[in-house]
Amino acid sequence: MKYDNDNIFAKILKGEIPCKKIFENEFVLSFYDINPQKKIHALIIPKGSYIDLDDFIKNAKEKEILEFFKAISHVAKLLKISNIEGGYRTLSNIAKNGGQEVPHLHFHLFGGENVGKMVSN
Ligand code: AMP
Repeated sequence: MKYDNDNIFAKILKGEIPCKKIFENEFVLSFYDINPQKKIHALIIPKGSYIDLDDFIKNAKEKEILEFFKAISHVAKLLKISNIEGGYRTLSNIAKNGGQEVPHLHFHLFGGENVGKMVSN
């Protein structure tokens, strides 16, 4: 599958549509989900063009991978939902059976309340 340069997160990265930014560095951008499923619902995306986790692990540089996963924990701290502040859930949907809607790798970060059982229906 080829990366779609016009997906919504690619447009956010290009500055073509706005986002409510939480954190940004050379490698990642984090912003609030437009349709929050929990009290706090953030997204973290790499700046590189990767469709999903499998594409990322196969094609990204080790530095990009390291910085991406470090950023998830960093954003949790910025949002004050880290392990010592109650905790959170992070997940990434991958392709059709994973329910992925936006074809640019993203991790969801849910918190600010007890987020409940891991998988519903
Ligand atoms: P997924 O189903 O894992 O691909 O999740 C895509 C997520 O992107 C959903 O939770 C959407 O609410 C969110 N989303 C879609 N468009 C935007 C946007 N413009 N800004 C922020 N979040 C968005």
